[in-house]
Amino acid sequence: MPLLTRMVGTPLAIDIGPGAVKGLAPLLADRRISSGGDVAVVVGPGQGEALAAELESSLENADVHRVDSGSVEEATELSRELRNDFHDAVVGIGGGRTLDVAKYAAGLAGLPMVAVATSLAHDGIASPVASLELSGRKGSYGVQMPVAVVVDLDLVKSSEPGMRRSGIGDVVSNLSAIDDWRLAERERGEEVDGVAVTFARVAAMAVLHRTDGIEDEEFLIALAEALVLSGLAMATAGSSRPCSGGDHEILHAIDHLFPGTAWHGELAGAASLFVSHLRGDARLAEEIDKCLRRHTLPRLPRELGLSEDQFAEAVHYAPRTRPDRFTLLEHLNLGEREVRERVRAYVEAFDR
Ligand SMILES: [Zn+2]
Repeated sequence: MPLLTRMVGTPLAIDIGPGAVKGLAPLLADRRISSGGDVAVVVGPGQGEALAAELESSLENADVHRVDSGSVEEATELSRELRNDFHDAVVGIGGGRTLDVAKYAAGLAGLPMVAVATSLAHDGIASPVASLELSGRKGSYGVQMPVAVVVDLDLVKSSEPGMRRSGIGDVVSNLSAIDDWRLAERERGEEVDGVAVTFARVAAMAVLHRTDGIEDEEFLIALAEALVLSGLAMATAGSSRPCSGGDHEILHAIDHLFPGTAWHGELAGAASLFVSHLRGDARLAEEIDKCLRRHTLPRLPRELGLSEDQFAEAVHYAPRTRPDRFTLLEHLNLGEREVRERVRAYVEAFDR
């Protein structure tokens, strides 16, 4: 009987809970990542400074690096600094941007990276993808997956409500991303990875119907686990495919055309609802709509701070953001006028 299975890479440790940062030094030692605490700690603005000070007593040999811009240039500069000294690992503490800079820099410096998440804004916590700016343009870069992931719920609870909510939209968008992947399988013969789909869908379903919310610890644990699982889905697939379809093409287009519109996950949730409606999947659209409304996430262009025309412009531009990705948007290949009509129909259907 065949016993062949494949290996799926995961972090050595995942620790989600209140006060998890306090357990960081023992975790590094127990997992043989760094027994003496000789690590580079990368912090961002905001909570970063206070956290670095707090860690000083337990990680005496750590040296602290501050980052701010979230650009490829900054991450490259950081990797140079990392190489000037001897470290066992890089510990990134912060929200998405800080973690992404730390991930990218650690990869260039050839060091393992530990992610300590202080917010739940998107699924980059445990993913092998870093989203960074290069010459004013956001891009996704393949990196090593973190060797350990720590989510400190005390810090998450004190993060901005908008950031906590945002992660819900990102994880729910897995559902339309999976549909887009299946479409590419039917239309283009693209290979779909069933294990990655399983992870991505289970992550979304763990959050979709929950009636508690971002003020409840149990919900935050479920959301953190769902975001970590989305990261594992991407690592398994070897690309962001299971968590990023036409929905993410639209959000990248909005980020490019109208920078600073909304959080990543807020855009992902609304774009996922739009794509599901565009696909004519009334059941999924209804479920996503209910979920977004329950958590007061934006759904309509004006709730994102965009006019209908601006949203339509982004939908039309979207396929250019991921030239190699086939989704419903490439499949329909709508002209500008058709896109505007579809956006109008979408707003009419969900403006209630
Ligand atoms: Zn995302």
